[in-house]
Amino acid sequence: MKKIILISICSLSFIGFSQKSTNWCGTDKKLQQRMDNSPGMADEIHQSMSEAAASQSGHEKVIKTIPVVFHILHDNGIGNISAAQIQSTLDVLNRDFNRLNLDTVNTRLTPSAPFKTNAASMQIQFILAKIDPNGNCTNGIERKDVASNITYEVDMNSEPHKFTSSGGLNAWPRNKYFNVWIVNSIDVPNPDGSIILGYAQFPESWGGPANTYGLTMRQDYTGTVGTAAGEDGRTITHEVGHCFGLLHTFQGGCHSNNCNNNGDYCCDTPPQSEAFYSCSPTLNSCAQTPTNDTYGFDALDQIENYMSYNACQNMFSYDQSTIMESEFTSLSYLTSLASSGNAVATGINIPAAMCKADFISNKTTVCVGDQIQFTDDSYNAANGWTWNFPSGTPSTSTSQNPLITYSTPGIYEVTLTATDGSIIDSETKTQYVKVLENSSSLPFFEGFELYSTLSATNNWQVLNPGSNSAFVLENTVGHTGTKSVKLINFGQSGTNLDELIASPLDLSGVTAGSGGVTLSFRFAYRKRFSTDNECLKVFLTSNCGTTWVQRKTLCGSSLSNSAVNSSWTPASIADWTTVHMTNVTSDYWVENFNYKFNFEGANGNNIFLDDINIYSGGPSDNIVLTVSEQGEIEGLSLYPNPAENEVNIEFTVQDAKTVQIQIQDVTGKIVQNHNVYAAIGSNLVMIDTQSLSAGSYFIAIKSGDAQKVLQFVIK
Ligand SMILES: [Zn+2]
Repeated sequence: MKKIILISICSLSFIGFSQKSTNWCGTDKKLQQRMDNSPGMADEIHQSMSEAAASQSGHEKVIKTIPVVFHILHDNGIGNISAAQIQSTLDVLNRDFNRLNLDTVNTRLTPSAPFKTNAASMQIQFILAKIDPNGNCTNGIERKDVASNITYEVDMNSEPHKFTSSGGLNAWPRNKYFNVWIVNSIDVPNPDGSIILGYAQFPESWGGPANTYGLTMRQDYTGTVGTAAGEDGRTITHEVGHCFGLLHTFQGGCHSNNCNNNGDYCCDTPPQSEAFYSCSPTLNSCAQTPTNDTYGFDALDQIENYMSYNACQNMFSYDQSTIMESEFTSLSYLTSLASSGNAVATGINIPAAMCKADFISNKTTVCVGDQIQFTDDSYNAANGWTWNFPSGTPSTSTSQNPLITYSTPGIYEVTLTATDGSIIDSETKTQYVKVLENSSSLPFFEGFELYSTLSATNNWQVLNPGSNSAFVLENTVGHTGTKSVKLINFGQSGTNLDELIASPLDLSGVTAGSGGVTLSFRFAYRKRFSTDNECLKVFLTSNCGTTWVQRKTLCGSSLSNSAVNSSWTPASIADWTTVHMTNVTSDYWVENFNYKFNFEGANGNNIFLDDINIYSGGPSDNIVLTVSEQGEIEGLSLYPNPAENEVNIEFTVQDAKTVQIQIQDVTGKIVQNHNVYAAIGSNLVMIDTQSLSAGSYFIAIKSGDAQKVLQFVIK
């Protein structure tokens, strides 16, 4: 009977958090997800919290040192925060956990809020790891460039950012390192419009699996400098509190029950009805006084507590320190984490020495003429730097953090040699800077016929954050010619996102009078099962990829109504669908227009892309290689197709005239040029094609400004 009552109290406690306030901490949301899937969990939580609260560990704590690793997941430099910014968040954490914060003076000691006597130092020091799990030198910071839209927003349920296999970075062993993941954004916004700044996993088994233990934080709320300049940096203080066993002070709302067994299981943090953000010093949201309450009367809300949402935090309480100490005593991995042997194993017991040259940059893919900000990331005590930037301006530098301009398309390495005066180390990152080729002006056509692989140097960047099947060149199948781009999605497990990024295109010459711009492409796809709902999306950018806007989405049956339960390849022209996007609006008529294809796969089937064509004017099902005007040349047809030794071209003109007939290969190169006198009415022209090698071609017939184009294939 007693057990049933406990379960009901706890269930109420955890669903009672407020939606009204600024819900910046996602920890309750994460825990609620786990509780929803595990009906017995509320009882487990209650048992372990009650035991921790009752541990009577006293106020004298053993000083602990904790090695920390930060896993930074950034998007082409966005969110790749500096080591200085990481250190600033640790500085805040160490001040707050050791009650060395300057605002302890604001902890109240008044008759109705006598909190200062119960403010506690947690006696925990956090230090960046100096030796990694493999025994190598580290600065305690791991970095990974992930494609946009992956972490990106972090899904708090599946947590892909915590697994290398799903595009993130694996945790380091939790009995040796405290893991922090830094991301650009977390989950969907709250209903009240606020955003989640961070969330934590509780230390007990009910908090989650061993390999996801730690906390996740937005990069722009990490620390007090860089992208978090102006912030108090205390998101980490609150989230580490959760990681070491603390609940919110408003947990369970108002109650008069035993404070050792209810609410946040702390008797020196008065009950609070819900999450508040404001700092009103008269805030007293609960009238009840719990049994065993430290103060013995209806004290004001403890707005100072780090485990509230209030914006005036400056203290942990003694009872909170008791819970934390209990976790370090009862959980063997936390005991190991804080042990002196582990301090030696992770290198945090001795002063940091220079051991590795390294660097980061604010982006790695740029357009011609763009600048890249490089930042020294050497560890752990460099004071001299020599940089080499092939094809950069300047091409060398001795600054710590140089700004370099790239003016020539290509892929370049960067080398940094760093020293502390005695030790010298060099770091070269090959294929680090990608300067995209600016394509010529419209029209643009890509049939993929000329390539043997896809790469940034031949205009196409492939991103494959899952490190599994990626967009690759298909050498035997195409709509036009024999090549296309394919993603072998069949047989890939889980959900995957793959990107194919084009090179920039100069659309600055487009005017409304020219009829705007159309982006056409062809795809071939089959579902694996009829219920599949995979998506192909097209994104556009007007600023060389700094921001992308989704402008076309084809999902599920919009991609195909047919399902094939084997790895599928298109067998005929009929398997291809042509898409015309007429929404490349004037916002995109700029010098550095660019576009990319995203495929969101989920155990379905393969997709192929071909004939990417961007041109002035309205949609055309024929490929447009130059500006086309209708009317003067009519009824154009071509046969046979495919052809061998000759092709026949039929067309009609209204006036006798000389027309120009050109055969172009898929790159637009003219391989034959004929001037032909055309009579009024129907004309038939036979063209010898014996000199042409097998492949795909276009035949263009021109008269003045008028032109029509057909495609054909030589066998
Ligand atoms: Zn929280």
